[in-house]
Amino acid sequence: MGLRIIMLGAPGAGKGTQAQKLAAAYHLPQISTGDIFRKHLREGTELGKQVQGYLQSGALVPDELTCAIVADRLQAPDCANGYILDGFPRSQAQAESLDRLLQERNEKIDAVIEIDVPDAEIIERLSTRRSCPVCGAVYNLKFGPFPHEDEKCDRPNCGSHLVQRDDDREETIRERLKVYQQTTRPIREYYEKKGLLMSIPASRLGVEALFSKIEAMLAQAGASRSS
Ligand code: AMP
Repeated sequence: MGLRIIMLGAPGAGKGTQAQKLAAAYHLPQISTGDIFRKHLREGTELGKQVQGYLQSGALVPDELTCAIVADRLQAPDCANGYILDGFPRSQAQAESLDRLLQERNEKIDAVIEIDVPDAEIIERLSTRRSCPVCGAVYNLKFGPFPHEDEKCDRPNCGSHLVQRDDDREETIRERLKVYQQTTRPIREYYEKKGLLMSIPASRLGVEALFSKIEAMLAQAGASRSS
């Protein structure tokens, strides 16, 4: 039982926001490798130092390191009934490594949700994306989720001034999009062959409209919310 979902999509397509909404609706943990790496960066850990250069340039952190982090995270008790993988896997080697891990855990992925947004729109979305440097919450000044108060984090007890992520700047965005097209997007075929891919055209779709589409697709595939 349980529900295991992979979110696939270019940086800025909205997968983090949708993963967060799915996690809340289905009572599952959202496992974002990008968030894990940024937390280590903020806290200045050894891992943070190891991954800093990759994050700054928009390159992928090496597969072995990334897969080890995910394997470790999945050991936590909150993953027993499922999880939403947000930003992992991002290469063929990671997808295969995840399959081996799933086999060991006697689990399977239920759906791979691809949020499909054209490159030109991605660049626009990333330039208006803002995030909280303290708690990591993500907003978009043009596409939503919108902060209630001008460029301040809404989360209870936070209220920090929102910033643009270092890697959401134009030069890094282009590199991240290139990496996405060359290394990440091809894994859609891997999952398509397994019959798991649900691709959603999301150009100009708002947060709520996209979430309704995802829920409808999941319901069609037999996934239901646990209350
Ligand atoms: P994200 O917030 O998902 O866009 O991730 C930010 C950065 O973290 C990426 O540009 C990569 O440098 C790194 N990263 C996140 N997830 C992965 C992954 N699955 N494999 C390799 N690098 C990753």
